Amino acid sequence: MGLNSRMDKKQDIRALTKTQLRDFFIENGDKAFRGNQVYEWLWAKSAHSFEDMTNISKETRQMLENHFVINHIEVDYMQRSSDGTVKNALRLHDGLIVESVLIPTKSRTTACVSSQVGCSLDCKFCATAQLKKMRNLNPDEIYDQVAAINKESLLYYNHKLSNIVFMGMGEPLMNYNNVLKAIDKITSPEGLGISPKRITLSTSGLPKMIKKLADDGVKFNLAVSLHSAIDEVRSRIMPFSTAFPLNELKEALIYWYAKTNSRVSYEYVVWKGINDGKEAINELVKFCKYVPCKVNLIEYNSIDADEFQQANPQAIENYIGVLEMNNIIVNVRRSRGKDIDAACGQLANKKS
Ligand code: SF4
Repeated sequence: MGLNSRMDKKQDIRALTKTQLRDFFIENGDKAFRGNQVYEWLWAKSAHSFEDMTNISKETRQMLENHFVINHIEVDYMQRSSDGTVKNALRLHDGLIVESVLIPTKSRTTACVSSQVGCSLDCKFCATAQLKKMRNLNPDEIYDQVAAINKESLLYYNHKLSNIVFMGMGEPLMNYNNVLKAIDKITSPEGLGISPKRITLSTSGLPKMIKKLADDGVKFNLAVSLHSAIDEVRSRIMPFSTAFPLNELKEALIYWYAKTNSRVSYEYVVWKGINDGKEAINELVKFCKYVPCKVNLIEYNSIDADEFQQANPQAIENYIGVLEMNNIIVNVRRSRGKDIDAACGQLANKKS
């Protein structure tokens, strides 16, 4: 990039805090209050253009236009599954694409959002891992995914979005600051006003970052993609985890619970020949005793990786039986949106 083009480049207005925006107006001979109005347009009203800001004078809008841009996502294409699930492919301001999903049930709608373009981790069963990480998403790009799904929820299901899960593309804890900033905006009354108790961050299990979440006193829920409580098996299916043995993960979760008093969810897929035997179940039960938790057994969606096949129903029943016998809460998550590659582990920027 040449010097001129760098100087000409306008700043993304949504990178400014409310205070910075108020200061901008004061410096430009206007009232600080104007900053509040514009801030409301940018976040609570999700305006994508200065033209939309109808209570701001034409001159002021032009002045904003001269200084700033509003980088925002565009829905590039949208697909609806026969079960009502909606998958959005979202084009970012630099042309990259990420995906997010709206999952409706009878009583609520859940947004599954992405935190990175691609992923730097290498879970063998996950389609996103094949994309490799291209970049982190900015806070506004994460926020926009939720705002877009909220609109779709109102349009198709007549009610606002009820829950958010960070289970789309990317490892949210490897984009820590931006994810937390986005959640701040999503939960703020000046943003979408969604309660943190309705938000779940799902991590592949990075011990240091889980401790950081606890230290930062976050109020949202934590889920860990566990898939095995045996180090050798986990390292085989999630090779990065060799650097983060289960002992360290356990310690981090004990720390999390001591600080937050918030139960952990374990996401767990049962695959044929990998973790469908007795030992796998017994080790999971042991792991579940460390902190109050619940287990979500997730139906697997093939990504054409021959090694990973959904376990037979009896194996799932065995898990449920032993977990319940040990008083561990267990849910079975049926897969949604399979026909449009919107189900867990299938997000890979592929049109069905
Ligand atoms: S499962 Fe999650 S952490 Fe693992 S590669 Fe896929 S997106 Fe990344």
